[in-house]
Amino acid sequence: MIKIENKKALDKFYHRLFFYKHCKNIETNYKELKPIIKAINIKKRKEKITYIYDEACKQIDNHYKNKDICGFKNNKCYVQQKLNNGNINGCCRMCIYQSTKGCMTKNLTCKLFTCSEVEKRCKIIKFDDLKILKLLSFRNRLILKHDYFSKREDVINDLYYGSIILWTLRIIIRLINNFYTLKYKK
Ligand code: SF4
Ligand code: SF4
Repeated sequence: MIKIENKKALDKFYHRLFFYKHCKNIETNYKELKPIIKAINIKKRKEKITYIYDEACKQIDNHYKNKDICGFKNNKCYVQQKLNNGNINGCCRMCIYQSTKGCMTKNLTCKLFTCSEVEKRCKIIKFDDLKILKLLSFRNRLILKHDYFSKREDVINDLYYGSIILWTLRIIIRLINNFYTLKYKK
């Protein structure tokens, strides 16, 4: 049994969360720990990964709620307005999931990406701020930090397979597919 009753215990718990990822007996009044406890108690691996992924995305969305961090105007972000080179849709312009209404899927890696222009204008959220991700293996955390231009279901499958070699192959195939789909769309 782990009791988390104060800030010191909470910090210690977060610090050691990776080692507590199978501990089902946690007692606490901290509401922020609810998603972590829920994730620990999910038995099926795919279900657990999906929950962790969606919950982390939700936390990022909540952080940026009601904030237009990239300052889009006429589909051009801050950087594109400055450069005025005809590009639109910000960082998503090279991706098949772009649309003028935003991303058509839910990609955690992209959600965490911010350029220096954004960083000087607002308080950003970082990978390490998402404590629930500590429940993932080191390999999966590495994959998740680099899984750009991919749809939610593909990212979840990358995490489910949990293999760097397979992920590298899958991401190369996706990038090639992305490149040719956009090329022939023009
Ligand atoms: S992160 Fe920066 S470059 Fe990317 S869309 Fe936002 S403002 Fe533009
Ligand atoms: S997957 Fe990433 S790059 Fe593609 S549209 Fe969505 S946020 Fe943009």
